[in-house]
Amino acid sequence: MTYPIQKTSAEWQALLQSKHAEPVAFEVTRHAATERAFTGKYEQYWADGSYHCICCGAKLFDSDTKFDAGCGWPSFWKAVPGAITEIVDRSHGMVRTETVCSRCGAHLGHVFEDGPLPTGLRYCMNSASLDFLGDAPPPSPTGVVDNGSQAPGEVAAPTSPDDTPSRTDGGHRQAQGGHS
Ligand SMILES: [Zn+2]
Repeated sequence: MTYPIQKTSAEWQALLQSKHAEPVAFEVTRHAATERAFTGKYEQYWADGSYHCICCGAKLFDSDTKFDAGCGWPSFWKAVPGAITEIVDRSHGMVRTETVCSRCGAHLGHVFEDGPLPTGLRYCMNSASLDFLGDAPPPSPTGVVDNGSQAPGEVAAPTSPDDTPSRTDGGHRQAQGGHS
């Protein structure tokens, strides 16, 4: 099978290194290895955002489809439509459904039919195949002040929270923890 993004092993290795991917990321994504259960950085990681292919950056999952399957790998009940290609995997004496990135062919994990509703699917992924991006704070339309031209000379002191537009409210939601 061919994928839109093609690179040599050396190129993938260099790319993964430059992205500070986990050491096993190359073996997992390019040689379908499996990281050890309960070792992945996203196995117990619940920040809001999205999960992308570590190799090519394609968006694969939203964090609100992630659930704790207790299996030791990050699990999702729904993938971004079209982002994942399924392949029948007959290795290790089992018949499983392998999941790879539709854009670059990176091995991600497997999908099983024992997940929660509404899909009943469990995308059992390797953390090493994923790259988490936290949600940016939503653009704030209330930051636009539109109250005419009253007292243009009187500039409110920036220390007064009531008079300053809420341009910076919320700030950056920073993902906490998860670092090993
Ligand atoms: Zn990819």
